[in-house]
Amino acid sequence: MSSKRPQHDTSYGPIFRCQVCGSERLDLVMDLGHQPLCDSLPSLHQLNGPERTFPLRQMWCRDCTLSQIDYAVAGEEVYHSEYPYKSGVTKELVVYQLALAQEIVTELGLAKDSLVVDIGSNDGTLLSGFKLLGMRTVGVEPTNIAKLANDAGIETVQSFFDEESARRIVESRGRAKVVTATNVFAHMATLGQFIRALEILLDDDGVFVLENHYLVEIMRTGQFDTIYHEHLRSYSAKSILTLFGFYDFTVMDVRQVARYGGNIRAYVGKGRNRRVKSSVGQILQLEKDFGLDDPACYAAFRTRADKGKFDLLRLALKCHDEGKSFVGNSCPGRASTLLNYCGIDRSLMPYICEQPTSLKLGLHLPGKHIPVVNNQRLIDEQPDYVVLLAWHYGEAIAAQLRARGLRSRLVMPLPELQIIDA
Ligand SMILES: [Zn+2]
Repeated sequence: MSSKRPQHDTSYGPIFRCQVCGSERLDLVMDLGHQPLCDSLPSLHQLNGPERTFPLRQMWCRDCTLSQIDYAVAGEEVYHSEYPYKSGVTKELVVYQLALAQEIVTELGLAKDSLVVDIGSNDGTLLSGFKLLGMRTVGVEPTNIAKLANDAGIETVQSFFDEESARRIVESRGRAKVVTATNVFAHMATLGQFIRALEILLDDDGVFVLENHYLVEIMRTGQFDTIYHEHLRSYSAKSILTLFGFYDFTVMDVRQVARYGGNIRAYVGKGRNRRVKSSVGQILQLEKDFGLDDPACYAAFRTRADKGKFDLLRLALKCHDEGKSFVGNSCPGRASTLLNYCGIDRSLMPYICEQPTSLKLGLHLPGKHIPVVNNQRLIDEQPDYVVLLAWHYGEAIAAQLRARGLRSRLVMPLPELQIIDA
C-alpha cells in the first residue's frame, strides 16, 4: 500500500478530498440539496424558531471507490445529548445483535472473560449478547443513552471514542480482545483518531470488527435514503483495505451480511502479518464486476433515485386530489432524507406513526415538520395508504401491522414504489 498516509481527521465543513485515500478525484453521485440533520427532530416549541440545514451531496472517489458526502457537520451537533435513537427499540435489531455476538465469539474462538468493547454502544444491546456468552464488556457511547445502558447493568463510558477514553479503559480493564463498531464506523469525521484509539485499546492478537451499510448494496437496491449527514462515508471493501493499509493492521476477512438491507462486515486484526481469508479477494472481484469504478454505475443510481422520488410524490398528490388519507409509519433517519428530497410535507402526509416506546413521539420530522404520533392511531383511523418509511424492514413491519388489525394499503417507497393491498 501507499506509504504516505493522508490526513484522516477531517475537519468540519466542506470536504474536498477522499476521506480514506486523500485523492481529489471526486465525482458527484447525487445532490440532495440542503437538508436538516435527520436525527434533530424539533419539538413543538422549537418549531417556532430557525432550523439549520447543511449541504447533502454524495460523491465517489475514483481511486479507492469510497463514497462520501462532501460536507461534515460537527459531531457535537449531530450527536447532541438528546439524540433519539435507541437500538433496543426494533425487535429485529435485538435479535440480529444477539446473533452477531454469537458469530463473533465462535469465529474468533474467544475465551470466556475476554474483554469486548463496543463503540457507539447505544443502549448496550450488542454487549448484552456478549455478556450472556460469558465475556467482560464495556460500552463507549457519547449520548445520554449511555445512562439507560448503565441503568440496565451494561457498563458504559459516556464519551466519544478517542485516545483518552481508550487509555482509561486499558487502565481499568486491560486491553480488549475484540472491539466492535456496528453502524458507527461511517459516522465520525475523525477517522484517524478512532484508529489511533484502536491501536491503544486492542491487545496484540486483538481484532476490530466493523459493520456498516455497504456501498454495493446501496447502489444495487437504489437506497438513496441512506444518504444523510451522519453517514459521512459509505464503504466499499476496496476503500476499507486502502484505509487499513496505511496502518499497522491486516484486513483478514470482509464479506456481505444481511442487516439494514445489506451490510459489509470486516474483521481487521492488529498487526501486519495476519492470515487473510479468500473472502477478501472475492469481494474485490465482486466490486469490480459490479462497476464501482465506473461512472455509469452512479449515473444509473441517480436516474433510479429520481424515479423513486417522482413516483412517491405522484402517489401523494393523487391521494390528496382524491381525498384519500396518506400517512407514514416509522421514522428512521432515512425517512428524513426521503421525505425532504421528495418534498412531501404535512399537507400531503399529516402524520408519521412510531411505536409507543419511541423517543421520537411528540416531535416532528426535520425540515417538513410532520408530527410523529403513537402508532395506535393507525389502527384507530385505518388510513387509505400507509407508507412504510422503514421499508428495509418492510416485510416484518407489514406482518406486525396486519397482525394488529391494520387493513390499509401499504406502500413500499423504494427501491421501486410498490402498493400492497390488505
Ligand atoms: Zn479514495
